[in-house]
Amino acid sequence: MSTGTLYTVSAPSGAGKTSLVKALIEADTQVTVSVSHTTRPMRPGEIDGINYHFVDHDGFLAMLGENAFLEHAQVFENYYGTSRAWVEETLASGRDVILEIDWQGAEQVRKLMPETVGIFILPPSQQALLERLTGRGQDDQAVIDKRMAQAIDEMSHYVATDYLVINDDFTTALNELRAIMVAERQRLVRQQERHSGLLQSLLRSQ
Ligand code: 5GP
Repeated sequence: MSTGTLYTVSAPSGAGKTSLVKALIEADTQVTVSVSHTTRPMRPGEIDGINYHFVDHDGFLAMLGENAFLEHAQVFENYYGTSRAWVEETLASGRDVILEIDWQGAEQVRKLMPETVGIFILPPSQQALLERLTGRGQDDQAVIDKRMAQAIDEMSHYVATDYLVINDDFTTALNELRAIMVAERQRLVRQQERHSGLLQSLLRSQ
């Protein structure tokens, strides 16, 4: 069986990344998304084990000490990390894995596993981003201002990716993400892994 492909999907907060990834995995059973560990407090509507594994600071540091994270980063005031064991096991089972992580994490993963496919999602304008950040209605103005500054910082790292998707129209952006995955599955090295028997038989002289 061929191993799965690892994708990183990065975006500033408010670019629609989580909704796009959710729709992507609903439409494609071959791909699944990693649930990160975080020290960030749970937001209303979030579920432990579904959106994140919510852990306290000491718990996170203990996991870090056990080398349990494939990558980790501090984003805003909180720590985030990706479970190494889960990613390795899922890829080995042949499924593709999406890591919804920030640019620092994507950079670490790319160094560790250079075959990782990087995708960056950007909003169509700063105004649209601001509207989406404000639209959540869960944070006060100071938090929104800070998130906007952080979003601009995150966006400045878009060049270190393989694919760039602009999320102006949701359906268009979703189709573009699906097209990236379809194209990646047809790469020569992956097809050679998947169809080694066929390729040998096609070249057999009669
Ligand atoms: P939020 O707290 O809004 O869910 O996420 C804040 C930022 O942390 C987002 O850019 C998100 O992609 C990033 N993030 C979430 N999980 C991880 C992770 O496991 N590792 C890294 N490096 N970043 C993460």
